Amino acid sequence: MKKIILAHTQGFCAGVSNAVDVVNMALEKYGKPIYVRHQIVHNTWVIEDFEKKGVVFIENIGDVPNKSVVVFSAHGVSPGIYKEAQDKKIHVVDATCPLVKKIHRQANRYSDRKMPTILIGHKGHQELVGTSGYVDKEFLHIVEDVHDVDKLEIDENESVAFITQTTLSISDTSEIVDKLREKFPNLNKRPKNDICYATQNRQDAVLELAKESDVVVICGSPNSSNSNRLRETAEKCGTDAYIIDSEKEFEFEWIEGKSVLGISSGASVPRYIVDQLVARVRERYPLIGVSEGEDVEAGIQFPLPLV
Ligand code: SF4
Repeated sequence: MKKIILAHTQGFCAGVSNAVDVVNMALEKYGKPIYVRHQIVHNTWVIEDFEKKGVVFIENIGDVPNKSVVVFSAHGVSPGIYKEAQDKKIHVVDATCPLVKKIHRQANRYSDRKMPTILIGHKGHQELVGTSGYVDKEFLHIVEDVHDVDKLEIDENESVAFITQTTLSISDTSEIVDKLREKFPNLNKRPKNDICYATQNRQDAVLELAKESDVVVICGSPNSSNSNRLRETAEKCGTDAYIIDSEKEFEFEWIEGKSVLGISSGASVPRYIVDQLVARVRERYPLIGVSEGEDVEAGIQFPLPLV
């Protein structure tokens, strides 16, 4: 093993960075316990760290005492959850990513226009569950993969809208949208998808990385959609690719007889996870070189929500 290359763009995106800051600000302002609905971001270590500081993660608003402080995660929630919180006089700190909120507004507009709306994403993923709540049930259709397009029961001559989850694979999503266009000549004309800049940049960076590496390792938790898509993106290039939640899961046999190890991480992964992996590889290969290109997202920030 001669070299480690770190993907030039990886780790926390602006939405995740805000969500983490917001929980810290809420802890500082209100003291513990702070409740957070759903995992604030899909990363084991971020969650464990917050639990140690006095954050309680819950799935149901019913499990929170009246008048407490609840942070909504970066993935967003449906309108029904805001209503439940209001009924319990809960102080809501909303860490929903602004890019997800934009999609919620778009979903609302389609339902106002009574358009059948196809949501492309992973059933059960928090973002999709939240966004579904902004589409009138009568008009909602969920598509997970290209085969689901054939099963859609919508009149082919209708004006049909589509929306995508922000963390999908760019190539798989294009395939689905192309198939939708074939089936529905009146599919709405809009950007190709709602995949966010962070997902796009991390997938682009991992494509470059996979071409230069013999093996790619992605740091990310098993439930992180965007991290799993990074592993698949590297694999589609024909490069062996693995996903690990921490450096302890790294297997040295993956790099036996190989020269270049590429490392990246999902948008919900703190940088220290990558640094710990590099340190572990360096213990075995003390002379190994490490290179990293320029982060294309340097300076991107979203305004922080009110706490
Ligand atoms: S991955 Fe994209 S949509 Fe999700 S929090 Fe980050 S910037 Fe927002």
